Amino acid sequence: MLVVMQVNATAEQIQAVVETIREMGLTPHPLPGSTRTAIGITGNTGAVDPRRLEVLPGVLECIRVTKPFKLTGREMHPEDSVVRTPQTRIGPGTFTIIAGPCSVENEAMIFKTAEYLVSRGIKLLRAGAFKPRTSPYAFQGLGLEGLEILKRARERTGIGIVTELLDTENADAVEEVADIIQIGTRNMQNFALLRRVSRAQKPVLLKRGMAATLEEWLLAAEYVMSGGNWQVVLCERGVRTFSDHSRNTLDLSVIPPAKLLSHLPILVDPSHGTGKRDFVPPMALAALAAGADGLLIEVHPQPERALSDGAQSLDFAQFDKLLDMLHRLAEPLGRTLA
Ligand code: PEP
Ligand code: MN
Repeated sequence: MLVVMQVNATAEQIQAVVETIREMGLTPHPLPGSTRTAIGITGNTGAVDPRRLEVLPGVLECIRVTKPFKLTGREMHPEDSVVRTPQTRIGPGTFTIIAGPCSVENEAMIFKTAEYLVSRGIKLLRAGAFKPRTSPYAFQGLGLEGLEILKRARERTGIGIVTELLDTENADAVEEVADIIQIGTRNMQNFALLRRVSRAQKPVLLKRGMAATLEEWLLAAEYVMSGGNWQVVLCERGVRTFSDHSRNTLDLSVIPPAKLLSHLPILVDPSHGTGKRDFVPPMALAALAAGADGLLIEVHPQPERALSDGAQSLDFAQFDKLLDMLHRLAEPLGRTLA
């Protein structure tokens, strides 16, 4: 932490800050400059709470020098992380596509989708058995029966399963079936749930909260990592803004800073990010160009009949077209589709 004093701060005010820092059990280092004084702080084991210092007379601002996230940050772990499932890897060099319907609706549509995706070289199927719906009257998912269907789809086709965990109650059941456990946007700061998946033996796909800053998102990932699970994949799915031309505002501009600060892989979900299937391909291509490690895309055999998120789901022909464009864009960017 660096405490920056105002230009006209008096020697007494500087001294008062120095003494307060000492009272906090920390070591102050006054650094007089040509126009103002800054005071460095050392001796802290965790983050220093700036509020006690910010209110002192003569203080302009407190600047954090070290990041509050330790395990997710690049300072401790400079090289990119690779997250592995039995079927594939997510991380540098590759571009991993996870696809499937929003919800598990019945066995036939899951088998059909799994077989189609396998035929296109896709290694991970994403479908929700437990659905976080805004309305309690909307389709809530098939629950445990949905998990059984996903398990059978993997046995039948070999495809890996990504599925959402909504609550700690169903953690064992989801962990058993999933190759990657999804934590949805609404649960990004459900700390009890984050602690539970931090003890899971499966990787975690952590969606960004719909109003979360990058720092809050990385601190949510820090919960998972600090509990012992280092297999974390971030997923940008759009945030809430004043814009009403799309379901959410897909924040592709979070990718470069996320990559700068963190070694974790980051996927982009253009389906929830836009809410409209026609907008999905351009944003998927943009995500690849922006440096994402892959995509999470909603694909449904009959989107017009989907029980959730049909409007943003691609049908198989539209997904084929997108895959072709992604292959062509990946090559000049030196990426390989996985
Ligand atoms: C989903 O992936 O279907 C979903 C509910 O996503 P989100 O948590 O991003 O809304
Ligand atoms: Mn969905």
